[in-house]
Amino acid sequence: MRFVIIGGGPAGNRAATHAARLGVEVVLIERDVVGGAANLWDCIPSKAMIATGGAVSALGRIAGMGVTDVHGTVDLEVVRSRISTIIGELERSNESILASQGVEVVRGDGRLLDPHTVAVTTASGDRTFDADAVLLSTGSRPRVPEWASIDRDRILATRDAYPPDHLPDHLVVVGSGVTGVEFVHMFSSFGSAVTLIVSRQQVLPQKDPEVAAALEADFLGRGVTLFKGARAVSTEVSAGGVTVHCDDGREAHGSHALIAVGSIPNSEGLGLEEAGVVVDAAGYVPVNRHCQTNLPHVFAAGDLSGKLPLSSVALMQGQNVADYVVRGHTASHRHPNYDSAPSAIFTEPQIADVGLAEADAFAQGRKIRVTKVPFAASSRAVIDNDSRGFVKIITDPATGIVLGGSIVGRHASELISVIALAVTGRLHAADIVESMPVHPTLAEALAEAAE
Ligand SMILES: Cc1cc2nc3c(=O)[nH]c(=O)nc-3n(C[C@H](O)[C@H](O)[C@H](O)COP(=O)(O)OP(=O)(O)OC[C@H]3O[C@@H](n4cnc5c(N)ncnc54)[C@H](O)[C@@H]3O)c2cc1C
Repeated sequence: MRFVIIGGGPAGNRAATHAARLGVEVVLIERDVVGGAANLWDCIPSKAMIATGGAVSALGRIAGMGVTDVHGTVDLEVVRSRISTIIGELERSNESILASQGVEVVRGDGRLLDPHTVAVTTASGDRTFDADAVLLSTGSRPRVPEWASIDRDRILATRDAYPPDHLPDHLVVVGSGVTGVEFVHMFSSFGSAVTLIVSRQQVLPQKDPEVAAALEADFLGRGVTLFKGARAVSTEVSAGGVTVHCDDGREAHGSHALIAVGSIPNSEGLGLEEAGVVVDAAGYVPVNRHCQTNLPHVFAAGDLSGKLPLSSVALMQGQNVADYVVRGHTASHRHPNYDSAPSAIFTEPQIADVGLAEADAFAQGRKIRVTKVPFAASSRAVIDNDSRGFVKIITDPATGIVLGGSIVGRHASELISVIALAVTGRLHAADIVESMPVHPTLAEALAEAAE
């Protein structure tokens, strides 16, 4: 059996290594970096920038812990070279894992010629592969709205913004979803002034209002200007900088503007129409719970599948596809459960959530028990001189089963795994309490909230 994968991001990469481990012939076609946009543009460089910004803001925390002469200056050139080193290291490690599993990596642009034939345009000519199964995992790219007039110099899309060779004096960020707020955090922690244009009345409109309010308080505390309820409609570049015009007449002025208004799938040029693969109106490839498209041997995973646009979800889908391609529907086969996928926002404080949200439960008229513990009550948080945030756990009052939760605070992205495990495993709140977290740790707040 030959399994051909187009796109080597988290979904394609994981599917390739997992299928090869299970013993089938795998061809992985990638036109850019093995590891995908996730490693080259999205998760890794953004988190590397945020890690440096976090180190700078940690200096304030450390100063309150008795360390004197604390100061820090960021050398952007070092930050830039560190990011390219990290990307290079991750690529080499991905390539060596693929090679050790016997995966054939073909560099070039892949497309379907017909349902069972994949063509690749490489630097040395075209190749074709017969395929028993195909995975489409070509990811997505930033949406570039026409009104924004992106010039990649003053008006930037997310992939133009880092690593920067100089810091914007004043960045106007359009878009207050996950990507937008991470950029606000990133650049404000490096010292740029930031204005955020928020089309609704709260940042992170999809999130729990209490969680969003905690982030807004942090932004306001750092001097970020919020334009709430304003929709950007055009941009203008002048000698003095940029102006973003909003639909209510307000204008945001800055040295640069960054447009972070979502992404679009990479489904063009893949031969989908010719091969008979259904694509929806927005360009995503609809899939069933096995990630099968309308053609049972053609799968789609990752951002292209239009499910949750997260690397963690793409990895899980890739693994499930490989499993299904090689072993079929066995008793042990599992499907990704999108409802219990945790997600995190790497701001400061971090934000993470999983499962049922309080607002959704109310909207559904569902009875829930909500318990909340502030980190101010955590000895570890107080010792570490950062007690911002809280843990909220949502349980079913009749059974005590954990349905969801959210965490705002340091290491929220790590701590959420405990609640995610409880939600996935349908554990009871008492199970979290009885796990006896180490003292003194932030995890104790989870056990307290679960009581
Ligand atoms: C700024 C930003 C930060 C993010 N941070 C996080 C985060 O911290 N955590 C998280 O979980 N998610 C994060 N995400 C989301 C995450 O990056 C995506 O969900 C993830 O990259 C999706 O993986 P994928 O496998 O679909 O493909 P991608 O990572 O998009 O990779 C697709 C690959 O396919 C290749 N390709 C495309 N077309 C072809 C073709 N025709 N032939 C050959 N190759 C092709 C591309 O070159 C690319 O390498 C972030 C997104 C953004 C925009």
